[in-house]
Amino acid sequence: MAYPGPALPVRLSRLLAPACLAAALLWASGCAAVPLPAPPSPVPAATAAQNATPTATPSPAATQAPPATTPALTPTPPPSPTQPAQGFQSAFGGREIIRGRADDPRVALTFDCGSVAGASSRILDVLKQSNLRVTIFMTGQYADHYPELMQRMAAEGHEFANHSYSHPDFTKMGNEAILSELARTDQAVQGVSGASTKPWMRMPFGARDSRVMDIASGAGYTSIFWTLDSGDWQENATGAGVRSRVLEGVKPGAIVVHHCAADQTAGALPDILAGLTAKGLQVVTISSLLRE
Ligand SMILES: [Zn+2]
Repeated sequence: MAYPGPALPVRLSRLLAPACLAAALLWASGCAAVPLPAPPSPVPAATAAQNATPTATPSPAATQAPPATTPALTPTPPPSPTQPAQGFQSAFGGREIIRGRADDPRVALTFDCGSVAGASSRILDVLKQSNLRVTIFMTGQYADHYPELMQRMAAEGHEFANHSYSHPDFTKMGNEAILSELARTDQAVQGVSGASTKPWMRMPFGARDSRVMDIASGAGYTSIFWTLDSGDWQENATGAGVRSRVLEGVKPGAIVVHHCAADQTAGALPDILAGLTAKGLQVVTISSLLRE
């Protein structure tokens, strides 16, 4: 699993390269994080994202929010970029969102599911206890393997988004193969939960370029990157490390990435939720953060 591709800017490629092996080993546990450098000097994800494109600033004309609803089995919308509302931090001409509004006292905790369940049930227990709903970026493989967990997620009000079928590096794939990955996942998630993954998706490994972004946008998806990487995918991650990384790095409007399988996140989540509350930050889904 060699990446990133040559289409990525040189600087970003250098950032990604050292941790690629780790991500290749960990993707099965749901690693979506761009393999950012390991501590002690991680580069903020948003910085890497901004470096990946010269169009990271929201357009003044970008006032149209993503579609309010996406009924199941709708035809593929025309390939026009989704326009984020003003105030969001975005990239790729608004086709990717990195952060909500900086004056919004809410954050989106997001969870990427790979091909194994791992700590999923424990994480769901904590969220249920706190009566919180989050956005879960789901692979089709997970949906096919764990329909009972998927049904629980749906029943407890969590939002599903698309994280590909088999977690490949989209920048290494042809257009039709990418579309197939997205469509298979949407069908798998709908088949189990009844809910579409549209309009949100996250690129496997966070690997993307303008072509990949065009394909996703044309299929009706806005890419959701992240403001803050919890680091729970790292081989040496600890619960205390995940907790401090999130609570020290979080800001209003942040999109935080965790992984469904990560024991470290399951262990740290009660403290993280308490810490966010103490900071006056409310946990919401991506749809709530970006639409309401
Ligand atoms: Zn992933």
